[in-house]
Amino acid sequence: MTKDVSRLDLFIDRMVSQRACLDFAISETADMTGPVFELGLGNGRTYHHMKTHIKGRDTYVFERAVASHPDSTPPDEMLILGDVRETLPASVERFGAAASLIHADLGGHNREKNDVFARFVSPLIEPLLAPGGLMVSSDRMYFETLTELPLPLGAVEGRCFVYRR
Ligand code: SAM
Repeated sequence: MTKDVSRLDLFIDRMVSQRACLDFAISETADMTGPVFELGLGNGRTYHHMKTHIKGRDTYVFERAVASHPDSTPPDEMLILGDVRETLPASVERFGAAASLIHADLGGHNREKNDVFARFVSPLIEPLLAPGGLMVSSDRMYFETLTELPLPLGAVEGRCFVYRR
C-alpha cells in the first residue's frame, strides 16, 4: 500500500531528520577540535542548533546573502560571504582538511536542481573534512572518499544524509 505524502509531511520529515542527523554528528565528533562549517545560513535555525549544542569549536558560516533571524546571525569574522562555488575552494587553502563537522543545507524547492548542485559542490566540500569528521546534508552527495553512514534513529530515509571521512 502506498502512502500519499504531502508537502507538509516532507517538510516535517526534513526538519526532524536534520535535527536527528545533526545531534548524531555533534555527538560523534564531540572529541574533535576542528572547526564546524554551516553551508547555507537561511533563517539560521540549524546554525542556532549547532551553536547551542557545540561547545569549544569555531563555527564558520558560508552564505551568499545573510537574511537570518537576529538571534541566529554569526559575527562578521565567522561569516564566509559569497557563493560556495568560490568560497569553498578558497577555504581549502585557508583551512585544509580540518573541519570536524560540515552541515550543508543549500538546496531550494527544485530537487533536480539540488541534485545538479550537490554533484558540483561535493568535490569542493570533500577536501575540507578532517579524518574522522562527519558531513550532514539535506541532499545526497557524491563523494569519492567519504563513507555514507546509516541514519540515526528518528531520521527519515532520503531526507538527510550522513558521511564520514
Ligand atoms: N538550514 C537553514 C536554516 O535552518 O534556517 C536553511 C538554509 S536555506 C534552505 C539555504 C541557504 O543556502 C539560503 O540562505 C541560500 O542563500 C544559501 N545558498 C544557496 N546556494 C548558495 C550558494 N551557491 N552559495 C552560498 N549560499 C547559498
